[in-house]
Amino acid sequence: MSLTKDDIITLPNPHLRQKSLRVAYITEEIKRVVQDMIDATLSWDASRNHEVGVALAAVQIDQLYQIIVVRNDLEHKEDQTFMVFINPVITKKEGELSKDYEGCLSVPDIYGKVKRYTKVRVKALDLNGQTIRLTAEGFLARIFQHEIDHLNGLMFIDHIKDDPNAFYHLDEDGKLTKLAYESVKTDPILWE
Ligand code: ZN
Repeated sequence: MSLTKDDIITLPNPHLRQKSLRVAYITEEIKRVVQDMIDATLSWDASRNHEVGVALAAVQIDQLYQIIVVRNDLEHKEDQTFMVFINPVITKKEGELSKDYEGCLSVPDIYGKVKRYTKVRVKALDLNGQTIRLTAEGFLARIFQHEIDHLNGLMFIDHIKDDPNAFYHLDEDGKLTKLAYESVKTDPILWE
């Protein structure tokens, strides 16, 4: 049975704020988790009209492993292939800090303007256990920072919790509308 969007955990599930474990060996179970992550992301993606599921961390399907998957093509839903990164770490943050919209499959319909570095270097293992090193810029750099945060139990909203102008709601027609800070700040679903 394939996983679906319903297997993606959302706030206030406390697992989202736990640290994930390093993968010691790339076993059949780990490969199964990777496929489950991809299946769940594509199922979510198919259910959303105005969003693309660009990436997922294993914790989001309630598997607390240091694994992330990132879409090869970030803009076109037709390309359903993913890159896999096991035990990914950011080895260097470069460029400047840039503020842009960010969403999360585990925080439905809420977007935030989050500051991220415009360029990061990432080190990880691929599914064969080979070391991957890459430099990501722009939106891809943002994705890596967001996903690697998940492995450390950090949500994007945690970065902006004190910013009254950073929170937005995705309406049914795909428009982002600014949220009243008071309602965000007191929403028991969002905060520990
Ligand atoms: Zn996320």
